[in-house]
Amino acid sequence: MDVCHVCSEPVTNPLCPHCLHETVRQWVEEEDQDMARSIWRLDEVFPDMAMASVHCIRCGRGVEVCPHCYTKEVRDILGKDEQLQAQFTRLFNFHLHAPPNMA
Ligand SMILES: [Zn+2]
Ligand SMILES: [Zn+2]
Repeated sequence: MDVCHVCSEPVTNPLCPHCLHETVRQWVEEEDQDMARSIWRLDEVFPDMAMASVHCIRCGRGVEVCPHCYTKEVRDILGKDEQLQAQFTRLFNFHLHAPPNMA
């Protein structure tokens, strides 16, 4: 089964939450230390996906949550800071709107 656990959409851009998390965390750390601490905890929300049939293109871990659902969680956290949230949406937009079959 290669659909997202959260939204039931096909996982078309298999980057696992852990890899996305690494990228997002580095960016947030530069912008806001307090916010970075909230983001760190997000890693625990997504357990390792050993049963997944789709594998992350970067680390090979199973992916059962799509990048869209992961970035949604991040935006919820960043929502306390509108500027940071807007910046995040701009920077990580390609994860949200990666068009399937158009790479
Ligand atoms: Zn999803
Ligand atoms: Zn990965």
